[in-house]
Amino acid sequence: MAIQILAEDVVAQIAAGEVVERPAAVVKELVENAVDAGATFIRIAIQSDGRRRIQISDNGSGIPADEIELAFARHATSKLRAADDLYHIETLGFRGEALASIASVSQLSMTTRHETDPSGTLLRLEGGHIQQKRSVGAPRGTTITVENLFFNMPARLKFLKSENTEKRQIAMIITRYAMAYPFVRFELEQDGREVFRTNGSGQLLDVMMNALGLDQIKNMFEVNDTHLNIHVRGYTSAPSYNRSDRSRITLFVNGRWIQDTSLTYAVVQAYHTLLMTGRFPVAVLLVNIAPEEVDVNVHPTKAEVRFRDSDSVFSAIQRAVRRAVIDQAESPMLRGRLANGGAERVWNPAADPVQLDMRLPMQGTGQYAVQQHADAPAPDDTEFPDGPQGPARPRTLPMLRVVGQIGASYIIAEGPAGLYLIDQHAAHERVLYEQFMAEHARKDTISQYALAAQTIQVAPPEARLLEENIDALAELGFGIEPFGPNVFVIRGVPAMLADSDPIETMAGILDDLVQGNKPGQQAVEDRIVLRVCKQAAIKAGQVLSLEQMQALIRQLERCNTPLTCPHGRPTMIHMTSDQLAREFGRMG
Ligand code: ADP
Ligand code: MG
Repeated sequence: MAIQILAEDVVAQIAAGEVVERPAAVVKELVENAVDAGATFIRIAIQSDGRRRIQISDNGSGIPADEIELAFARHATSKLRAADDLYHIETLGFRGEALASIASVSQLSMTTRHETDPSGTLLRLEGGHIQQKRSVGAPRGTTITVENLFFNMPARLKFLKSENTEKRQIAMIITRYAMAYPFVRFELEQDGREVFRTNGSGQLLDVMMNALGLDQIKNMFEVNDTHLNIHVRGYTSAPSYNRSDRSRITLFVNGRWIQDTSLTYAVVQAYHTLLMTGRFPVAVLLVNIAPEEVDVNVHPTKAEVRFRDSDSVFSAIQRAVRRAVIDQAESPMLRGRLANGGAERVWNPAADPVQLDMRLPMQGTGQYAVQQHADAPAPDDTEFPDGPQGPARPRTLPMLRVVGQIGASYIIAEGPAGLYLIDQHAAHERVLYEQFMAEHARKDTISQYALAAQTIQVAPPEARLLEENIDALAELGFGIEPFGPNVFVIRGVPAMLADSDPIETMAGILDDLVQGNKPGQQAVEDRIVLRVCKQAAIKAGQVLSLEQMQALIRQLERCNTPLTCPHGRPTMIHMTSDQLAREFGRMG
């Protein structure tokens, strides 16, 4: 082929491929435009993940009648004049590409009225070509309707993610903007159902509760600190309130949501020694920095930024968060709560000086009174009664004699083949897992423990995920029903979770579901079962009576695979009599 300049349509589609590669990207660009236009109310309505229809209305400045066509021209923007301006951008948009790109791959109509115009204008485009323009009555602001996205790009349609993934992504985008702009009132409707709204009161904490589905405000500490002219404000969680992944750390720089592993690490670092490894805080932080210190022109989707001095941004964030956590965690109120073992159920050995999730009478921290008086009469409630199939199953381990417990975490036992050191949490997880799976395999209805109905509020994307899995959860003994937008009622949990905090259990399950992206019902069920067992198992740090340890070991002896926990880690360390003899130099 001879070299030719590409036709305008082709250029437009190539550019559109970068900026609007999926429906969620369209939503993002249009919401950014509304925010840039100074809107205080933004309403987003989506039909079937946005492929069919996306409609966004705002009460912002509107576009003057004589500039409307220009708004759809490529590289047309009101936000930037000269190249120099690129170094102090204060708006979310600046590339002048979004409207042109979106219009080139959809059927689009826009109604807009500029604050100074007496009437509004309606413009209709198809594949980027203007079909109609006329004046209409309209309130101040702009409404854009994007229909049949990618109608002229059948190849792109084939590459779109599943409908549910896209819906979650859209909800995620809206909740993020709502947090970055708490003074703006947001409404998100998916398939005719309102799934998220904020009231525009300006209270970040209110928006966060809603957007992240947080259940306890008291767990969030306010952050507000300026260091090297970098202002960091927002909220970060108490060490006792933590999650199993980093996804709940949300960062904005000058009103723009950013993804930055290094800055996320700054937040995690601030909790050094306060959180167990593998646990992460929940945080929403709004960083404000002079625009000339940030380069936002790194990537077409503008989700990455570069800092002139990234080290100072790192330390400003780390310092602000650390300060918030230390100041507030050292307040007498919190100390009191930790000391008397209040409502917190997550035991964090670094932060919490005492064991909190204890049902046994405790004489004092670290005392092993129950064990030391092993001859005392057995407590009437033995925590590990034999399961229904217990005695009938053959042993897979030799009979073990419990000697005692160390570190409130490991059981020492003796068997014919030597010494066994057993991880009580891993062992109990294994026992529960096999019991649960056996019940499930027999198609027994998993026995359910009815709760006084409790409501749980979750983040909109997670709500979609929960809805998708409500049947799988029901089969495993969870009684959960939708109850208003993003709120669910928990009426029952699998019987083995009778003692656990149902809200915490659901949070864990949601974490697992969010993390596992493998499709297929089996995988989902397995993840839920693993979580149930983990939650129900006795914890490390829990003092056990001799009877409790004996019951646990008896059950472990009858597991099919007693040597590993369901996550594949070992349940025990075995030292043979020979090894012991060798260690003591008794054998040659
Ligand atoms: P950019 O946001 O990078 O300037 P866009 O293609 O997204 O580029 O928008 C082009 C121009 O159209 C903007 O600069 C702005 O002047 C105008 N515009 C777009 N959406 C709106 C809106 N919702 N309200 C007011 N003006 C808008
Ligand atoms: Mg824009």
